[in-house]
Amino acid sequence: MTPTDFPNTFLVKHPFVVDSLTHLRNKATELGKFRRHSDQICNFLFAEAIRGLDFKQVQIETPMEKMQSPKLADETVIIPVLRAGLAMLYGAMKLLPKSKIGFVGMQRDEETAIASEYYWKVPKITSQTVVIVTDPMLATGGSILHLLDHLKDVKAKTIRVVCVVAAPEGIENIHKHYPNVKIFTAAIDRELNSKKYILPGIGDYGDRYFGTE
Ligand code: URA
Repeated sequence: MTPTDFPNTFLVKHPFVVDSLTHLRNKATELGKFRRHSDQICNFLFAEAIRGLDFKQVQIETPMEKMQSPKLADETVIIPVLRAGLAMLYGAMKLLPKSKIGFVGMQRDEETAIASEYYWKVPKITSQTVVIVTDPMLATGGSILHLLDHLKDVKAKTIRVVCVVAAPEGIENIHKHYPNVKIFTAAIDRELNSKKYILPGIGDYGDRYFGTE
């Protein structure tokens, strides 16, 4: 994991991540291959994002003898920002099978890029809960900020955002309002275009992962 110029953001630079990102960026990559590389990249991103979670010692027995061994202790809630965040959910659930899942539906106005909420169903969050928000393309950060505003009063133990590509604008926006929220990403891209798509980016991640136009 590599620190970046942004104090809240960490780059995951594993060779598999770097390679998969090229396949995801390439517009010639077809649906099946896009999904495979998306799932692969997400495994590595989540593996980094759960660093620093707490462990508890449990008693186990190897085939040879009894021992105390550390086991992940934190309770996790994963919140995919619909729809594209769902593409990252399967990878997250594989790594953290006991996680509870919250659903937040945000719609981005294609003209203004302003996010509005149309669905909210999130499990109980306490001071023991690690919240992992998934959104593959962190563009303006508007949807995630909206979500973080909702979570302000419940005071989770920590909140982490996992994305595949982030734009500097989105990273700065989140840091300005929520400096304690850490972002894990495979790339920080150059800029947003006038429609708030990331350049060079991946295109519309949800369309490419789910096969819609
Ligand atoms: N959402 C996407 O899917 N792609 C972008 O570039 C920005 C937001």
